[in-house]
Parts: sequence; C-alpha cells; structure tokens
Amino acid sequence: RPSGVQHDHANDSKLLDFLNEIQADNIRQYLRKFTQLPHLAGTEQNLKLAKEIANEWEKFGLDSVELVSYDVLLSYPKPEQPNYISILNQFGNEIFNTSLTEPVPEGYEGVSDIVPPYNAFSAKGQPEGELVYVNYGRTEDFFQLERDMGINCSGKIVIARYGKIFRGNKVKNAILAGAKGIILFSDPADYCAPGVDVYPSGWNLPGRGAQRGNVLNLNGAGDPLTPGYPAKEYTYRAEQDEGVGLPKIPVHPIGYSDAVHLLTNMGGPHPPDSWKGALNISYQIGPGYKGEFSKQIVRMNIYTSNQVTRIYNVIGRIRGAVEPDRYVILGGHRDAWVFGGIDPTSGVAVVHEIARSVGTLVKKGWKPRRTLVFASWDAEEFGLLGSTEWAEENAKILQERAVAYINADSSIEGMYTLRVDCTPSLHTLVYDITKKISSPEPGEETMTLYDSWHKRDNWTNERNAPRISKLGSGSDFEAYFIRLGIAAGRARYTKNTKTERYSSYPVYHSVYETFELVERFYDPSFRRLQAVARVRAGLIFQLSDSQLLPLDCVEYGAALHKYTLNIEAIANRHPDAISRYNVSFDSLLNAVKNFTSAAQAFHQRLNELDRYNPLEMRMVNDQLMHLERAFIDPLGLPGRPFYRHIIFAPSIHNKYAGESFPGIYDALFDIENAPEQDKAWDEVRRQISIATFTVQAAAMVLMPLA
Ligand code: GLU
Ligand code: CA
Ligand code: ZN
Ligand code: ZN
Repeated sequence: RPSGVQHDHANDSKLLDFLNEIQADNIRQYLRKFTQLPHLAGTEQNLKLAKEIANEWEKFGLDSVELVSYDVLLSYPKPEQPNYISILNQFGNEIFNTSLTEPVPEGYEGVSDIVPPYNAFSAKGQPEGELVYVNYGRTEDFFQLERDMGINCSGKIVIARYGKIFRGNKVKNAILAGAKGIILFSDPADYCAPGVDVYPSGWNLPGRGAQRGNVLNLNGAGDPLTPGYPAKEYTYRAEQDEGVGLPKIPVHPIGYSDAVHLLTNMGGPHPPDSWKGALNISYQIGPGYKGEFSKQIVRMNIYTSNQVTRIYNVIGRIRGAVEPDRYVILGGHRDAWVFGGIDPTSGVAVVHEIARSVGTLVKKGWKPRRTLVFASWDAEEFGLLGSTEWAEENAKILQERAVAYINADSSIEGMYTLRVDCTPSLHTLVYDITKKISSPEPGEETMTLYDSWHKRDNWTNERNAPRISKLGSGSDFEAYFIRLGIAAGRARYTKNTKTERYSSYPVYHSVYETFELVERFYDPSFRRLQAVARVRAGLIFQLSDSQLLPLDCVEYGAALHKYTLNIEAIANRHPDAISRYNVSFDSLLNAVKNFTSAAQAFHQRLNELDRYNPLEMRMVNDQLMHLERAFIDPLGLPGRPFYRHIIFAPSIHNKYAGESFPGIYDALFDIENAPEQDKAWDEVRRQISIATFTVQAAAMVLMPLA
C-alpha cells in the first residue's frame, strides 16, 4: 500500500505514560459510583450527576469546566395513568393486560424513580384493532408483507420484534403502511443467547424485561422544536404538534412474557422460517386471531406526554499550549434510561478515567499542543439532543477549529474483541495506537490489542488488517461528523458477530443494566474497559499533541474508490436502464482518481516539510483538518437538510447503519418500482454529479496551495 508517510506522533514515551496511567480499578469504582441511581435526562438526579462530574473534572486539573443548559422537548409516561396494552374480548372487556413495570433486580428494590418501559415521543391514544405481525418491521419486511403476502396494514395495530435496525425506522415504516399503532417486543431469538441464563444468573433478558427507547425520526435535527438553532431561553419554538420527527401513532415496548400472550392464536398465513422467533408459537401474520378467538382485538392505552425540559451538558477544557484555537473533542452521554450499567455509564466511567489521567499529566506541567474538550452530553436517549444543541450553538467556531471528535458511549456490548467505526482518515491512527496497547483477553498477556483484534476480526480477503467499519448514527457523534464534517470515530468492545451487528446486547435499555451485569459477566477484571479507555485516550492524545495531524488522506482515497465500485455495482443491476438513460460513473471514478493522486502527492510533500516552520506546519494541518469539511454539501441530502456529508449518512432504512454515497444509493433504491422511470434515473444522474463535484472539491483541498 502506498501509504508513504510515517506519521510523526507526539512524544511516544509521553503517550505510553498516559496510557499506563489508565487503571482498570478506577474504571470499576467510577462505574459503581455512577450507577447506583437512575439518571434519566431532565431529572434532578441527572443534574446532580452533572455537577458531581464537573466538580471532579475541576479537581482532576482541567482548565475550565462549565454546565451548559438547553430547554428541549423530552417525553415521559404519566405516573398516575400508566401505559399498557390489552386484549379485548367480543364484549370489549380487557381479558389480558401487559405488565406496567419490570421486576426490579435484587439490591435495587428501594430505588424510586425507575421509569417504566415506554417509547419516548410515542403519540398518545387508545387505538383498537386487529394485530398484524411484521417481523422486524424493516423496509424489506413491509415489502414482503404488502407485495408478496398481499397483507394491508392500514387501520391495523402492527407488532414488530426489536432488533436489526433502529426502532424509529420501524415506527416510520408502520406509519407509512397505514398502521394506527405499533407494539415492539423483544423476542428471545434476538435477546437471549443460547446456553446463557437470564439476569441475574446470566446476561440474557428476563421474560418481563423490556427495551425502552425513543422512536423519533429526526434525521439529525436535534431538539424537535428548534431545528438548526440552539434551544436557549430566547429561541423561537415550533408548536408541539409541528415538531420534527414526532411519530403520529402510539408505540409501546413489551417483553416476551407479555408478547407471547398477544401473539398466541393469531390467524392468517404462516410466515417464512426467517420470520419465526424463538417463542413456542406459530408466528402467524394475522390480521387478527383465529377460530374461537377471532372476535378478540387489541387495544393500546398510551398516555405518554411531551414536555419542554431543561438539560445539562458538562463541557471541560484543557487549553492547547501551541494551537489553542484547534479543538479535539472527547464526548459521550451521561443520561441513562435507568441505571445505565452499560449504556452509557461504561462510557462515562472511561471518560472520567481519561480525564483523571490527562489531569495527572497537566499537574506535572504537560499541556497538549491543541485544546482538548471533554463533553458529558445530556438527553442522548431522547434523540442525541444535548450533543446536537451544543453543535448548533457552536457551529461557527467548530467548523473553523475542530480537528476531530471521538465518541464515548457504551464501552462494551460483548466479550469478544474490539470494534471500531471511524472516518477513513483515522484508520492508520487506530492501527498505530492498538499496536501500543496490550490485549485484555485472558491468556493473551503478551499480545497487542491489534493482534488480538486482528486474529478475531480480519477485514476482508483483500485486506490483511482488523476490520474497521463506517460510522452510522444512533449516538452523539452524529452532528459533528454528518452535519459539520468533523473527522470522527468510536471504539468499543463487542461480541462475535458478523451478522447481528445492530441488535445490541440482551438487557439493553432495561432495568437489568446494572453495575453487577458488567462486573459479573461482561468484564470481571475491567481489563476490556481499560483497553477501550486506552484506545479512546490514545486517539485524543495523538490528535491533540502530534505536531503533524495523524490523519491519513491516502486511506480516504482508497475508501472512496471502494465505495464508488460498490455503488456502481448496485447501479449495474439495471443494465438496460443504465444504457437507456445514459448513466455513467466515469466522472465519479475520475474524481476519485484525482483525489487519490492529490492524496499521494500530499503525502510525498510531507517528507519535505520543515517541521521547525510553524506556519508551514499549520498550513498542512489545516489542509488535513479541512479535508473532512470538504465533503459537506451545505444543501444537505434530499429531504434531510441536517445530513450534509456526501460520502456518509445514516441509512434511511436503519439509523444505526452507515451508507456510503447515500444520495446515489437512495436514488437507486427500489428504482425498478418507481412510477416515472425517466425522472427516477434523472435523479440518479444528478446525485452522481453531486458526488463527483464533492470528491473533486475535496481533492482540491489537498493540492498544492499555490
Ligand atoms: N442511542 C439511542 C438509541 O439507540 C438514541 C439514538 C438516536 O436517537 O439516534 O435508542
Ligand atoms: Ca435546536
Ligand atoms: Zn441508549
Ligand atoms: Zn448510549
């Protein structure tokens, strides 16, 4: 690979000192301390935690720490009028009701303010109707239902299993299909690993456990009432029924003990095997019940209401010694659905230990070259609100000054190996750092994290290196990467899975996410969390302290080439249309070629850099910083003005997944069924031209300055 350049990393022994400072036992203590009580966004408890974290960051030695508040739309169930779902008999009597709460785990019985399972931002209402089972509620599931099975969901209540995709996409699909309500359930096929006990004897989801979570379709907007502008006191707010991304139908989550009652005796066609979960039922599609049960219907009783509520980010800074006007951000959310044992506190504890470790260096007189920003975001669970509002408030300075954003949500979702998603220009840095960290796995004490990771997850047949994936969304890096074009990445420990990448872990967003879950099952030695902490720490250390920014533009060129071949192959599934409508990827391939040459020449010139000439260094570093920015189109993607990155966007079918060349991809999706073929292919050609321009414009950023 023509990667030419040896990146000049900041003082290597300083890096190792810093990484060695990060201790597993500190992470254990922080995790224990921060998971004793619920920290739901908008509550007193979570404000208290914000103040506690701010206080400790100050004591650790950060130069400044502040709380930054916004007033955003949140959503809570009504304590006096609980949400539930009923089966009604022919007389309209409730013959079965779903449970109102999850059984609280041992040791937490006295805790008040445990919010019952609910889907935040659900519409209110009591829809009644026949049930239709829609598998995972994905685009392809509804296609199969409507096109192959001929089932019409309009006026029905649909029931979908959790998993595979972001729940907000399921809700959107149900609304488009005409459903008047949607029930989300956790099927044991997706939320129980074979041979593992349910919590507390194992890490599987108990039958009465349920997954909370928001069901918005924000497309990057942040607070639904103040799209584009920070939700301050002075800010104009849209009417609540006009908010961005709010679902128009009731949505409610249940566990499998309740789901089995709703699904048993459903009639209608038998499903394909791939639609069957692990419950002992036939998984018939409906609509409605069969035989003697055919008069039964289902009613949802949902009273959840939206509330403008104050939230608090904690922002801490260490002022850069040489380039204080260049920012490297480490951010992760603090708010949790309940105790947040994994999500987010395994991330919070790691950020805390990184802040303490940086503080020890600062106390010894060290300063990073660039400014380090630590962020503890609020209301991530309600649609990435705290991080997006801060990005909106600081957009002008961030687009001029931000070098990179590293996300620090949950540090672990499995016990197998490292998982990294990042922008291509960070690949090389991730590899370099993981070679300096030791494997946390028992029996691998002499192995590097890189080797341990590589052994378990090689990229592809063509590339002999550990796999790194594209960024999708569903966490706080979204506004920084996809709206503002700041180089970004995330790292966590994950399970062994090449297929189920988006089903998370069994007790995700339930009351069973406790400290004990992590200590007993996921990471008893806390060495996995330590390894993840070191990866995140190494990234911010090198990005903030290297003289030359450790961003690799040649890697970006290779990624662009790969994505171009990929999207061309998708278009080539329609050979006739391609020739009829004159669709060609030549211009894009050419731009990618220009980009690659510019990147290689850029790397060559780095060898002749005068490292003692600060202006020269600054010019080159600015080119590297502005590279990611160049992929931003101020007009945004079609219908998604806050998704402005032309190379990467969250998939329209699954917010968690990243799509490359999303404009072209979406224009091609299901194009064979578009009513006006000439218009549809016209849009494909327009999107190819936008991609061509954008890649060429990015190449120009790397070309000689004059
Ligand atoms: N991480 C949260 C979830 O997956 C919020 C994601 C989002 O709103 O994008 O439920
Ligand atoms: Ca806003
Ligand atoms: Zn979460
Ligand atoms: Zn999270």
